[in-house]
Amino acid sequence: MKQFVVIGLGRFGSSVATTLAESGYDVLAIDCDAEKVQSISTQVTHAVEADATDEDALKTLGVRNFDVAVVSIGDNVSANILCTLILKELNLPYVIVKAPDSLHGKVLTKVGADRIVYPERDMGARIAHNLISSNVLDY
Ligand code: ATP
Repeated sequence: MKQFVVIGLGRFGSSVATTLAESGYDVLAIDCDAEKVQSISTQVTHAVEADATDEDALKTLGVRNFDVAVVSIGDNVSANILCTLILKELNLPYVIVKAPDSLHGKVLTKVGADRIVYPERDMGARIAHNLISSNVLDY
């Protein structure tokens, strides 16, 4: 069974982590904020306080053995990029990263991110498609 590491426990990252864990997957959740770690600790397999831009810390946590990483450090773009770079250098097969905009998305692709997500943009498009495919006369 796939093992997931989720880095950055804002609304997006914590939702990804708890949903995966509820579905029975092993989830390591990482954040540098002790409160975020504490509040998710009963809902995931492991929750650890660490700086995701510290390569040695990520190595010590055994992050290289995971199948998928989800990086969601929204408020700190350089940390988001650095963390993604480290994960790809540790040979993580699949790294998904939340980006604030397409310019940052391009940078993330250059450092090796396998998939970029733009939650607000993607959800907006999805809602619009749902509205179009429903019977518009219902509204
Ligand atoms: P949301 O996901 O809630 O929409 P967001 O993308 O702005 O919002 P934040 O609320 O900023 O995300 O959450 C990002 C998380 O990443 C925070 O919990 C923050 O503590 C964490 N974080 C920031 N820098 C680092 C770092 N270097 N290492 C680990 N975690 C970090």
